[in-house]
Amino acid sequence: MDLSQLGEFGLISRFQSRLKYRSPQVIQGIGDDCAVLSLNNGNYQVLTTDALVETVHFNLKTHTPEQLGWKTMAVNISDIAAMGGQPKFAVLSLGIPSSVPVNFLDRFYKGLNQASQKYKVALVGGDTVASPKHLFINLALLGETLKKKVFTRSGARPGDKIFVTGTLGDSALGLKILESPRKKWKGSEALRKKLVQRHLKPEPRVEVAAWLAKSKFRVTSMIDISDGLTQDLGHILKAGKLGAELWEPDIPISKPLIKYSIINGLPALELALSGGEDYELLFTLAPDDVTNLGIESITKADPPVTQIGVITAKKGIRLISKTGRSKALQRPMGFNHFKGKT
Ligand code: ADP
Ligand code: MG
Repeated sequence: MDLSQLGEFGLISRFQSRLKYRSPQVIQGIGDDCAVLSLNNGNYQVLTTDALVETVHFNLKTHTPEQLGWKTMAVNISDIAAMGGQPKFAVLSLGIPSSVPVNFLDRFYKGLNQASQKYKVALVGGDTVASPKHLFINLALLGETLKKKVFTRSGARPGDKIFVTGTLGDSALGLKILESPRKKWKGSEALRKKLVQRHLKPEPRVEVAAWLAKSKFRVTSMIDISDGLTQDLGHILKAGKLGAELWEPDIPISKPLIKYSIINGLPALELALSGGEDYELLFTLAPDDVTNLGIESITKADPPVTQIGVITAKKGIRLISKTGRSKALQRPMGFNHFKGKT
Protein backbone atom coordinates (compact mmCIF):
# COMPACT_ATOMS: atom_id res chain seq x y z
CA MET A 1 0.00 0.00 0.00
CA ASP A 2 1.27 3.48 -0.70
CA LEU A 3 0.68 6.74 1.09
CA SER A 4 -1.66 8.21 -1.51
CA GLN A 5 -4.12 5.35 -0.96
CA LEU A 6 -4.05 5.73 2.80
CA GLY A 7 -3.99 9.54 2.96
CA GLU A 8 -3.19 11.78 5.91
CA PHE A 9 -6.14 10.75 8.06
CA GLY A 10 -5.82 7.07 7.22
CA LEU A 11 -2.23 7.25 8.31
CA ILE A 12 -3.05 9.03 11.57
CA SER A 13 -5.72 6.51 12.56
CA ARG A 14 -3.37 3.69 11.66
CA PHE A 15 -0.79 5.13 14.09
CA GLN A 16 -3.43 5.72 16.71
CA SER A 17 -4.75 2.17 16.68
CA ARG A 18 -1.26 0.82 17.24
CA LEU A 19 -0.22 2.94 20.20
CA LYS A 20 1.25 0.75 22.90
CA TYR A 21 1.37 2.97 25.96
CA ARG A 22 -1.66 4.72 27.41
CA SER A 23 -1.56 7.00 30.41
CA PRO A 24 -4.45 7.66 32.81
CA GLN A 25 -3.35 11.31 32.83
CA VAL A 26 -4.39 11.69 29.18
CA ILE A 27 -7.97 13.04 29.10
CA GLN A 28 -7.94 13.54 25.31
CA GLY A 29 -5.24 12.03 23.11
CA ILE A 30 -4.98 11.96 19.32
CA GLY A 31 -8.14 13.08 17.51
CA ASP A 32 -8.96 16.61 18.59
CA ASP A 33 -7.43 20.05 18.10
CA CYS A 34 -5.33 19.66 21.22
CA ALA A 35 -4.38 16.93 23.63
CA VAL A 36 -5.80 17.37 27.12
CA LEU A 37 -3.60 16.30 30.02
CA SER A 38 -4.10 16.12 33.74
CA LEU A 39 -0.84 17.14 35.38
CA ASN A 40 0.11 16.51 38.98
CA ASN A 41 0.29 19.72 40.93
CA GLY A 42 3.42 20.14 42.94
CA ASN A 43 5.75 18.86 40.25
CA TYR A 44 7.58 20.93 37.67
CA GLN A 45 7.01 20.37 33.96
CA VAL A 46 9.96 20.16 31.58
CA LEU A 47 9.41 20.50 27.84
CA THR A 48 11.78 19.71 25.00
CA THR A 49 11.79 19.11 21.25
CA ASP A 50 14.25 17.58 18.83
CA ALA A 51 14.23 17.39 15.04
CA LEU A 52 15.77 14.61 12.99
CA VAL A 53 16.41 15.32 9.31
CA GLU A 54 17.26 12.64 6.78
CA THR A 55 20.88 13.01 5.57
CA VAL A 56 21.72 15.35 8.50
CA HIS A 57 20.89 13.14 11.49
CA PHE A 58 20.24 9.79 9.94
CA ASN A 59 20.54 7.88 6.78
CA LEU A 60 17.93 5.42 5.59
CA LYS A 61 20.73 3.12 4.46
CA THR A 62 22.21 2.78 7.96
CA HIS A 63 19.11 2.95 10.17
CA THR A 64 16.26 0.51 10.00
CA PRO A 65 12.87 2.21 10.39
CA GLU A 66 12.47 0.57 13.83
CA GLN A 67 15.80 2.01 14.97
CA LEU A 68 14.82 5.43 13.70
CA GLY A 69 11.54 5.28 15.64
CA TRP A 70 13.36 4.26 18.80
CA LYS A 71 15.97 6.97 18.38
CA THR A 72 13.38 9.69 17.79
CA MET A 73 11.92 8.94 21.21
CA ALA A 74 15.23 8.16 22.94
CA VAL A 75 17.05 11.42 22.11
CA ASN A 76 14.20 13.48 23.55
CA ILE A 77 13.88 11.27 26.63
CA SER A 78 17.58 11.82 27.20
CA ASP A 79 17.00 15.60 27.35
CA ILE A 80 14.26 15.10 29.94
CA ALA A 81 16.53 12.77 31.95
CA ALA A 82 19.26 15.45 31.82
CA MET A 83 16.95 17.75 33.81
CA GLY A 84 16.31 15.01 36.35
CA GLY A 85 12.87 14.36 34.90
CA GLN A 86 10.55 11.53 33.94
CA PRO A 87 9.24 11.64 30.36
CA LYS A 88 5.44 11.73 30.07
CA PHE A 89 3.68 12.98 26.93
CA ALA A 90 4.85 13.40 23.33
CA VAL A 91 3.63 14.98 20.10
CA LEU A 92 5.16 13.91 16.81
CA SER A 93 5.39 15.82 13.53
CA LEU A 94 6.31 13.98 10.37
CA GLY A 95 7.23 15.42 6.97
CA ILE A 96 6.99 12.45 4.65
CA PRO A 97 8.18 12.31 1.02
CA SER A 98 5.99 10.30 -1.34
CA SER A 99 8.83 7.81 -1.85
CA VAL A 100 8.42 6.46 1.68
CA PRO A 101 6.26 3.29 1.73
CA VAL A 102 3.56 2.74 4.35
CA ASN A 103 5.43 -0.35 5.51
CA PHE A 104 8.36 1.88 6.43
CA LEU A 105 6.09 4.04 8.58
CA ASP A 106 4.57 0.96 10.24
CA ARG A 107 8.04 -0.18 11.22
CA PHE A 108 8.99 3.34 12.34
CA TYR A 109 5.99 3.35 14.69
CA LYS A 110 6.95 -0.08 15.96
CA GLY A 111 10.31 1.27 17.16
CA LEU A 112 8.68 4.39 18.53
CA ASN A 113 6.14 2.26 20.41
CA GLN A 114 8.89 0.11 21.88
CA ALA A 115 10.57 3.16 23.38
CA SER A 116 7.31 4.72 24.52
CA GLN A 117 6.36 1.49 26.28
CA LYS A 118 9.74 1.07 27.93
CA TYR A 119 9.91 4.67 29.17
CA LYS A 120 6.14 5.13 29.68
CA VAL A 121 5.58 7.98 27.24
CA ALA A 122 2.06 8.59 25.89
CA LEU A 123 1.94 9.86 22.30
CA VAL A 124 -0.93 12.34 22.40
CA GLY A 125 -0.81 14.13 19.05
CA GLY A 126 1.22 15.50 16.20
CA ASP A 127 1.09 16.65 12.63
CA THR A 128 1.47 14.76 9.38
CA VAL A 129 2.49 16.56 6.20
CA ALA A 130 4.12 15.90 2.84
CA SER A 131 7.79 16.72 2.38
CA PRO A 132 9.31 17.37 -1.07
CA LYS A 133 12.40 15.24 -0.73
CA HIS A 134 13.67 14.10 2.66
CA LEU A 135 12.01 12.58 5.67
CA PHE A 136 11.67 15.07 8.52
CA ILE A 137 10.82 14.00 12.07
CA ASN A 138 10.14 16.22 15.05
CA LEU A 139 9.14 15.06 18.48
CA ALA A 140 8.21 17.31 21.38
CA LEU A 141 8.20 15.76 24.82
CA LEU A 142 6.76 16.92 28.11
CA GLY A 143 8.20 15.52 31.33
CA GLU A 144 8.01 16.04 35.06
CA THR A 145 10.59 16.65 37.76
CA LEU A 146 10.22 16.68 41.52
CA LYS A 147 9.80 20.25 42.75
CA LYS A 148 13.17 21.99 43.25
CA LYS A 149 14.91 18.94 41.78
CA VAL A 150 15.49 20.31 38.33
CA PHE A 151 19.08 19.75 37.22
CA THR A 152 20.25 22.55 34.93
CA ARG A 153 23.54 23.25 33.18
CA SER A 154 24.36 26.11 35.51
CA GLY A 155 25.15 25.68 39.19
CA ALA A 156 28.51 23.90 39.26
CA ARG A 157 31.12 25.41 41.60
CA PRO A 158 34.90 25.00 41.82
CA GLY A 159 35.66 21.79 43.70
CA ASP A 160 32.50 19.98 42.51
CA LYS A 161 33.19 16.45 41.33
CA ILE A 162 32.38 15.51 37.74
CA PHE A 163 30.64 12.21 36.93
CA VAL A 164 29.43 10.40 33.83
CA THR A 165 27.15 7.41 33.38
CA GLY A 166 28.10 4.41 31.24
CA THR A 167 30.94 4.51 28.72
CA LEU A 168 31.86 7.10 26.12
CA GLY A 169 32.82 6.96 22.45
CA ASP A 170 31.10 3.71 21.46
CA SER A 171 28.43 5.49 19.46
CA ALA A 172 30.99 7.56 17.53
CA LEU A 173 32.91 4.47 16.51
CA GLY A 174 29.64 2.67 15.72
CA LEU A 175 28.80 5.52 13.35
CA LYS A 176 32.23 5.34 11.72
CA ILE A 177 31.69 1.62 11.10
CA LEU A 178 28.23 2.24 9.63
CA GLU A 179 29.53 5.00 7.39
CA SER A 180 32.33 2.89 5.89
CA PRO A 181 30.80 -0.54 5.28
CA ARG A 182 33.33 -1.29 2.58
CA LYS A 183 36.35 -0.60 4.70
CA LYS A 184 38.22 -3.76 5.73
CA TRP A 185 37.54 -3.45 9.46
CA LYS A 186 39.60 -5.82 11.56
CA GLY A 187 38.06 -7.58 14.55
CA SER A 188 35.03 -9.75 15.21
CA GLU A 189 31.51 -9.19 13.99
CA ALA A 190 30.32 -9.42 17.61
CA LEU A 191 32.47 -6.43 18.61
CA ARG A 192 31.28 -4.46 15.62
CA LYS A 193 27.67 -5.22 16.47
CA LYS A 194 28.04 -3.98 20.04
CA LEU A 195 29.48 -0.65 18.92
CA VAL A 196 26.97 -0.14 16.12
CA GLN A 197 24.13 -0.96 18.48
CA ARG A 198 25.22 1.85 20.81
CA HIS A 199 24.80 4.25 17.90
CA LEU A 200 21.52 2.86 16.60
CA LYS A 201 19.75 2.15 19.88
CA PRO A 202 20.75 4.68 22.54
CA GLU A 203 19.40 4.03 26.05
CA PRO A 204 18.56 7.29 27.81
CA ARG A 205 19.57 7.28 31.46
CA VAL A 206 16.21 8.05 33.03
CA GLU A 207 16.72 5.68 35.96
CA VAL A 208 20.03 7.18 37.08
CA ALA A 209 18.52 10.67 36.86
CA ALA A 210 15.48 9.61 38.90
CA TRP A 211 17.68 7.93 41.46
CA LEU A 212 19.76 11.10 41.86
CA ALA A 213 16.64 13.25 42.12
CA LYS A 214 15.38 11.12 45.01
CA SER A 215 18.79 10.86 46.71
CA LYS A 216 20.38 13.23 49.20
CA PHE A 217 23.10 14.21 46.74
CA ARG A 218 23.13 17.82 45.65
CA VAL A 219 23.38 17.60 41.89
CA THR A 220 24.82 21.02 41.05
CA SER A 221 24.58 20.69 37.26
CA MET A 222 23.65 18.12 34.64
CA ILE A 223 23.64 17.72 30.84
CA ASP A 224 23.29 14.77 28.49
CA ILE A 225 26.21 14.00 26.21
CA SER A 226 24.86 14.34 22.70
CA ASP A 227 27.67 16.37 21.08
CA GLY A 228 30.71 14.88 22.81
CA LEU A 229 32.07 14.99 26.37
CA THR A 230 34.29 18.06 26.06
CA GLN A 231 31.75 20.09 24.12
CA ASP A 232 28.89 19.28 26.50
CA LEU A 233 31.09 19.80 29.56
CA GLY A 234 31.95 23.13 27.92
CA HIS A 235 28.28 24.18 28.29
CA ILE A 236 28.38 23.51 32.04
CA LEU A 237 31.67 25.41 32.37
CA LYS A 238 30.50 28.36 30.31
CA ALA A 239 27.38 28.70 32.46
CA GLY A 240 29.56 29.30 35.55
CA LYS A 241 32.73 30.79 33.95
CA LEU A 242 34.63 27.73 35.16
CA GLY A 243 37.18 25.17 34.06
CA ALA A 244 37.72 21.48 34.65
CA GLU A 245 40.38 18.86 35.20
CA LEU A 246 39.62 15.50 33.64
CA TRP A 247 41.55 12.41 34.73
CA GLU A 248 42.55 10.52 31.62
CA PRO A 249 42.76 7.03 33.19
CA ASP A 250 39.25 7.44 34.62
CA ILE A 251 37.45 8.32 31.39
CA PRO A 252 35.15 5.29 30.99
CA ILE A 253 35.90 3.50 27.75
CA SER A 254 34.19 0.19 26.99
CA LYS A 255 36.12 -3.01 26.31
CA PRO A 256 34.71 -3.25 22.75
CA LEU A 257 35.89 0.30 22.03
CA ILE A 258 39.38 -0.34 23.44
CA LYS A 259 39.76 -3.63 21.56
CA TYR A 260 38.36 -2.40 18.28
CA SER A 261 40.32 0.82 18.21
CA ILE A 262 43.59 -0.95 18.99
CA ILE A 263 43.10 -3.47 16.17
CA ASN A 264 42.07 -0.77 13.70
CA GLY A 265 44.53 1.91 14.80
CA LEU A 266 41.91 4.39 16.01
CA PRO A 267 42.26 6.85 18.92
CA ALA A 268 39.89 5.47 21.59
CA LEU A 269 40.48 8.32 24.02
CA GLU A 270 39.77 10.96 21.40
CA LEU A 271 36.53 9.18 20.47
CA ALA A 272 35.55 9.12 24.15
CA LEU A 273 36.34 12.82 24.61
CA SER A 274 34.77 14.17 21.46
CA GLY A 275 32.50 11.50 19.98
CA GLY A 276 28.82 12.42 19.92
CA GLU A 277 25.51 10.67 20.50
CA ASP A 278 26.42 8.64 23.57
CA TYR A 279 23.37 9.99 25.41
CA GLU A 280 25.07 9.38 28.74
CA LEU A 281 24.58 11.87 31.57
CA LEU A 282 27.31 14.23 32.72
CA PHE A 283 26.77 15.80 36.14
CA THR A 284 28.50 17.47 39.05
CA LEU A 285 28.06 16.79 42.75
CA ALA A 286 28.92 18.98 45.73
CA PRO A 287 32.23 17.68 47.14
CA ASP A 288 30.94 17.43 50.74
CA ASP A 289 28.20 15.08 49.60
CA VAL A 290 30.72 12.88 47.83
CA THR A 291 32.79 12.73 51.04
CA ASN A 292 29.91 12.32 53.47
CA LEU A 293 27.47 10.17 51.54
CA GLY A 294 30.12 8.14 49.71
CA ILE A 295 29.98 7.39 46.04
CA GLU A 296 29.73 3.59 46.31
CA SER A 297 25.96 3.76 46.04
CA ILE A 298 26.22 5.75 42.82
CA THR A 299 29.08 3.92 41.22
CA LYS A 300 27.27 0.62 41.65
CA ALA A 301 24.33 1.84 39.58
CA ASP A 302 23.44 0.17 36.30
CA PRO A 303 25.03 1.42 34.10
CA PRO A 304 27.91 2.31 36.38
CA VAL A 305 28.67 5.93 37.11
CA THR A 306 32.29 7.10 37.10
CA GLN A 307 33.97 10.12 38.65
CA ILE A 308 36.12 11.59 35.89
CA GLY A 309 37.39 14.88 37.29
CA VAL A 310 36.75 18.07 39.15
CA ILE A 311 35.50 21.58 38.43
CA THR A 312 38.16 24.31 38.76
CA ALA A 313 38.07 28.09 39.07
CA LYS A 314 40.74 28.23 36.37
CA LYS A 315 39.07 28.28 32.96
CA GLY A 316 39.66 25.70 30.22
CA ILE A 317 39.67 21.92 30.25
CA ARG A 318 42.87 20.15 31.25
CA LEU A 319 43.48 16.45 30.78
CA ILE A 320 45.63 14.88 33.51
CA SER A 321 47.50 11.75 32.43
CA LYS A 322 48.33 8.68 34.53
CA THR A 323 51.76 10.15 35.29
CA GLY A 324 50.25 13.48 36.34
CA ARG A 325 51.11 15.37 33.17
CA SER A 326 48.59 18.13 32.42
CA LYS A 327 47.53 18.91 28.86
CA ALA A 328 45.20 21.76 27.95
CA LEU A 329 42.46 20.78 25.51
CA GLN A 330 42.55 23.66 23.09
CA ARG A 331 38.84 24.02 22.51
CA PRO A 332 35.85 21.85 22.92
CA MET A 333 35.69 19.21 20.23
CA GLY A 334 32.39 17.88 19.01
CA PHE A 335 29.57 18.46 16.60
CA ASN A 336 28.22 21.85 15.57
CA HIS A 337 25.50 21.94 12.93
CA PHE A 338 26.64 24.92 10.96
CA LYS A 339 30.34 24.17 11.30
CA GLY A 340 30.39 20.36 11.11
CA LYS A 341 32.81 18.28 13.12
CA THR A 342 35.41 20.49 14.81
P1 ADP B 1 -5.30 19.88 12.91
O1 ADP B 1 -5.97 20.07 11.61
O2 ADP B 1 -6.02 20.43 14.11
O3 ADP B 1 -3.83 20.23 12.88
P2 ADP B 1 -4.79 17.20 12.21
O4 ADP B 1 -5.84 16.82 11.26
O5 ADP B 1 -3.46 17.61 11.70
O6 ADP B 1 -5.35 18.29 13.19
O7 ADP B 1 -4.57 15.99 13.21
C1 ADP B 1 -5.64 15.24 13.72
C2 ADP B 1 -5.25 14.61 15.03
O8 ADP B 1 -4.21 13.67 14.82
C3 ADP B 1 -4.71 15.61 16.03
O9 ADP B 1 -5.12 15.19 17.31
C4 ADP B 1 -3.23 15.49 15.90
O10 ADP B 1 -2.58 15.84 17.10
C5 ADP B 1 -3.07 14.01 15.57
N1 ADP B 1 -1.88 13.69 14.74
C6 ADP B 1 -1.56 14.17 13.53
N2 ADP B 1 -0.41 13.65 13.06
C7 ADP B 1 0.02 12.78 14.00
C8 ADP B 1 1.15 11.95 14.15
N3 ADP B 1 2.11 11.86 13.21
N4 ADP B 1 1.28 11.21 15.27
C9 ADP B 1 0.35 11.32 16.24
N5 ADP B 1 -0.73 12.06 16.19
C10 ADP B 1 -0.92 12.81 15.09
MG1 MG C 1 -2.41 19.18 11.19
